[in-house]
Formats: sequence, C-alpha cells, structure tokens
Amino acid sequence: MNKVSIYNFTYDKLTSFLEQHNINKFVSKQIFDWLYKKQVSSFEEMTNISKKNIELLNNNFIIDDLEEIKKQIDPVDETTKFLFKLSDGNKVESVIMKFDYGYSACVSSQVGCNMGCKFCASGKLKKVRNLEVNEMVLQIVKLNKYLKETKNERLSSFVVMGIGEPFDNYNNLIDFLDIAKDRKAIEIGSRHITVSTSGLVHNIKKWADSQSQVNLAISLHAPNDEVRSQLMPVNNTYNIKQLMEAIDYYHSKNNRRITIEYLLIDGINDKEEHAYELIDLLKNRLCYVNLIPYNSIDESGFKRSKNVKKFFDILNKHNITCTIRQERGKNISAACGQLRAKENSKV
Ligand code: SAH
Ligand code: SF4
Repeated sequence: MNKVSIYNFTYDKLTSFLEQHNINKFVSKQIFDWLYKKQVSSFEEMTNISKKNIELLNNNFIIDDLEEIKKQIDPVDETTKFLFKLSDGNKVESVIMKFDYGYSACVSSQVGCNMGCKFCASGKLKKVRNLEVNEMVLQIVKLNKYLKETKNERLSSFVVMGIGEPFDNYNNLIDFLDIAKDRKAIEIGSRHITVSTSGLVHNIKKWADSQSQVNLAISLHAPNDEVRSQLMPVNNTYNIKQLMEAIDYYHSKNNRRITIEYLLIDGINDKEEHAYELIDLLKNRLCYVNLIPYNSIDESGFKRSKNVKKFFDILNKHNITCTIRQERGKNISAACGQLRAKENSKV
C-alpha cells in the first residue's frame, strides 16, 4: 500500500481516518501537536501515542520533508530565498521577508504556471503540476523551522504569491489554508494570510461562497480589456467586466476589503488616463490598490514605470486607498514575479 504524507491531512480528515479505525479523536490532537508544535520527524518520537497506534500511523503515513537545495540571503534587507526539491525531483521557491511587524513568507502553489502573463518569470515555465497539500504546508513548516533555529522567531504572516496560480489548484489550496490557520497546527490567523489570483472568476465566486476570512488579492494590472488582454491571456477567458462582477459577488457575501494589485509598466499601463480609468472602475467598490513597481525579467522587454509616484498621487487624490509595494530581495532575484526554479537544468 502506498503511504501518504501526513502533512496532507487537515485535522478533520485525520480525525475521520482515526475514527474509521476506532481511535479516539483526541489522538489527532496529540499527533498535530507532535507534528506542528514539537516538529518531530518520526512517529516513534510521539511518546504519548500507543505502540499499536504508532504502528497504524507507520503503516499508512510518512512524515516527509522538503530538501533545501539552495538558500540565498539578500545582504541589504535580509530577504531569504529558498529552493526546495520535491520528492519527484521538481523544485519550488519560497521567500522569507522581514518587515517592521515581523517575518512574512511568500509561498508557491504550483510547479510553473499556465496563465502565461507576459511580464512574469513564473509564467515562462509552463505548469508541470499542482503542488500537493503537504508541499505547501511543508514550505511554511520549513521556513518556520529556519526562523526558529536562526532567530528564535516564527512567521507572523504569509502570502500565496510565489510560483503558480493558487486558484488553479483550488482544493489543495483550501486544505493547506485550513492547516495554516488551525491553532492546533501552524496557527497563522486568516487575517494574516493573503491569496493572490490572476482573476479566475469561477473560483473567486466559490471563494466568496466559502466566506473565508483570508485576504483576497486580485492581479488586475490594467484598467481596460485592451491593455489587460495584451498582458494577461486570462483576460480572454474572464474579462474585466466579469472580474468586477465577481468582486461585487464577493462583497455581497463578505464585507472584507479586496486588494487590487496593479503592476506599473513603462508606457503600457502607467499613463494618467489609465489612472482615471482605474478610479472609475474601483470608486464604488471596497478595494484598495497596491501599486507594484515592475521588476525587470530578462525576456520580457518591459521596463519599469517612471510614473509610480504620479499614479499613486492621482489615485490618492480621488479617494482610492493606495500603497506602493515595498520592494524586497532585489539583489537575489527574490522580488515579486521573479521567482522561478531556474536551477532546474543545473541541479
Ligand atoms: N498567480 C498569482 C499569484 C502569484 S504572482 C497572481 O498572478 O496573482 C504574484 C504577484 O506578482 C502578482 O500580482 C503578479 O502580477 C506579480 N508579478 C509578476 N511578475 C512580476 C514582475 N516581473 N514584477 C513585479 N511583480 C510581478
Ligand atoms: Fe502565473 Fe501569476 Fe505569473 Fe501570471 S503573474 S504567470 S498568474 S504566477
């Protein structure tokens, strides 16, 4: 029988497995405690679990790990980028960033990405496969272990903004977030987690129905279909009108503010007229705009906008709440949109 990673199991799923074997659900609490709080690496170390139950666990599960194959630390801002190897040899990247309020992580949701955004390094690698629940959980577990060992700290927040489109891996994402939020497991509150999507409308609606308290960010990047379709092929499937309807649907279920990500690229989407179009689009919606300075990737031919501050001022003047994303990890290609397992061919 094929053994599976125990990190794939939410508390409820582990509990129902145990109940099928007539084991009290209290045992899943003990197992979670050993896994996530004490971070043991074998079932034998779970000293308050009976021999018989340890045997059952060993027969069905493994406690797996991600192999760290590379770590780079930005000498200026301490941003730390990890390259992890998965059990089938594929690789993913995760990043730790230090902010005034604490440490935050950026994790990946897929190997590669199929959305094909023209400005993004991750999108240059076609999707190989979705990450399994354990592979997302283990990114956080590994980063927390690193912070504990090196600084006696832990992550206070994370974003799912690494490689991949999280809403193209919806079911695994939901179980991962369940484990991330769970007080018995990773214990990072919903409000300290953000999921970013390029605009998969069907799953924005599903997410709205779930009434998740996790923050939602939407990569808009353009105020009209003409520009957006040029940058993001997803716009040919779900255009801006459909995206705005999905945002309104979300707000009919949930009064949480949505983050609108807007990447500023020189001469493409950063003109004054674009700012005014964006204001029209967002003025009656519960959103705030996060302006992202474009990080150049070799192949794209796009350049960083010189109008970031001007664009910001126009939005601000028209009462659109707006921030400019702080840049992190520039010196180690760990900034937004630059993540890619480029060592693929070398390691
Ligand atoms: N696939 C999801 C989440 C990962 S991308 C999404 O697209 O939302 C995370 C963010 O980084 C997105 O807003 C994306 O548009 C942005 N990004 C991509 N390439 C970038 C680049 N070269 N410079 C700056 N931000 C970039
Ligand atoms: Fe994929 Fe997001 Fe990059 Fe677009 S920006 S290619 S959706 S990772």
